Amino acid sequence: MPHVYAEHKDWMLCRGCGELQKIVAVSTEHEMVCWNCNKLLHRGHGNWLQSASALVFTAFILFLISQFFPFLTLEIGSQSHTTTVIDGFWALMERDSWLLASLIITTTFLFPLLEILAFLYLLIPYSLNRRVPGQAAVLRWLMVAKAWSMLEVFLLSVVISAVKMADLAVLHLGLGFYALLLLVGVLLIMHLTMDRRKLWSWISTNNYFTVHEGETVYDCRICQAMVGESIVENEQRCPRCCSEIHKRVPKSMQKTLALIVAATILYVPANILPIMTFSTLGDVSTNTIISGVVELVVDGLYGIATIVFVASVLVPILKLVVLYYLVWSVYARWQIGAKHRAILYRVIEVVGRWSMVDVFVVTVFVALVQFGFVYTVELEGAIIAFGAVVMLTMIAAETFDSRLIWDARNAQIQKEREQVESKQVAMSQQANPLK
Ligand SMILES: [Zn+2]
Ligand SMILES: [Zn+2]
Repeated sequence: MPHVYAEHKDWMLCRGCGELQKIVAVSTEHEMVCWNCNKLLHRGHGNWLQSASALVFTAFILFLISQFFPFLTLEIGSQSHTTTVIDGFWALMERDSWLLASLIITTTFLFPLLEILAFLYLLIPYSLNRRVPGQAAVLRWLMVAKAWSMLEVFLLSVVISAVKMADLAVLHLGLGFYALLLLVGVLLIMHLTMDRRKLWSWISTNNYFTVHEGETVYDCRICQAMVGESIVENEQRCPRCCSEIHKRVPKSMQKTLALIVAATILYVPANILPIMTFSTLGDVSTNTIISGVVELVVDGLYGIATIVFVASVLVPILKLVVLYYLVWSVYARWQIGAKHRAILYRVIEVVGRWSMVDVFVVTVFVALVQFGFVYTVELEGAIIAFGAVVMLTMIAAETFDSRLIWDARNAQIQKEREQVESKQVAMSQQANPLK
């Protein structure tokens, strides 16, 4: 059992670079960033509990409306077809595209729902100050799952699909669409107002675990507890939240490299193969990602063309190049430019998910244009390859341990410090040979 030396409520290890620093209280709408790498450490939350509880209830109701009420209605001549969000999943299942279907159902239904339920499960007992079983596990899950709940990306893809279809048919936005629009906003505010540090310290007040006084501490990536070197080495689990803890993510470089190499290989078929076939009365048009963008430009839809180009072409390339660059810089033990590399890493971590836009656009098309219409839409091979590229690069960014960026530089600083110290000892011995 580790000995807990103190509750260090006002100390924290930066997740980006691993530096230990003192937390200062900040007022609402203000932020405290790491002095070393500029990563956001914490944000002023004010009286967050009331607003968070109200928001989570609103989110739950909006979620139900967005999923089960009509989302979009497509009208062509005398025919009309209404879809809900979940129809995209069924349309994919009908085409035996279960891999894609499970990706869609996970990111637009399962994870957002579980996310809202997890918030409810945590906030109601917290406001009543009651303990319920499995709180730590639920909060732990919430931290991991956040990246895979993609309603905002889905919303953007619905807007793109609607604009693309505008000249083919009349589109009516349903109640479900407006509910989703509000839900995305509510979820965003909820994540910003939620004070995770408070929740963790409510679950367990201790956040500093060491066996020997003064040993080096490492940060738990989930609950941000500070855990001493000997516990990290021997138990490899965080004493507070029970998640795995390591000095550095094990084999981080190898895993990241393997994932980005796989993504690079898949990037080729994702761009060469067609992504979707659209046919109407014998007129068949097959699009790749690039030709889809070109078509948008020809149609004069420059705004949408830019969004699709950035999300589907530029971001995946940028992500791959940056990850190769980061892996290389760590292997080569670069000491300079760590701050810039840390910023690059944070950028790709945030923008990566938006590449899912094209996958969602195709799903919306397939869901909207059902059998019996003058139009038919079929999926093509590139969609799976492209979806895999997005997934693999997202996992690669998660596997990459950003603290590695700082290691070479910190080792050099440590070495210089030791040299200065040994020089000082030698000088004091020279000055006083009797010592
Ligand atoms: Zn930092
Ligand atoms: Zn922990």
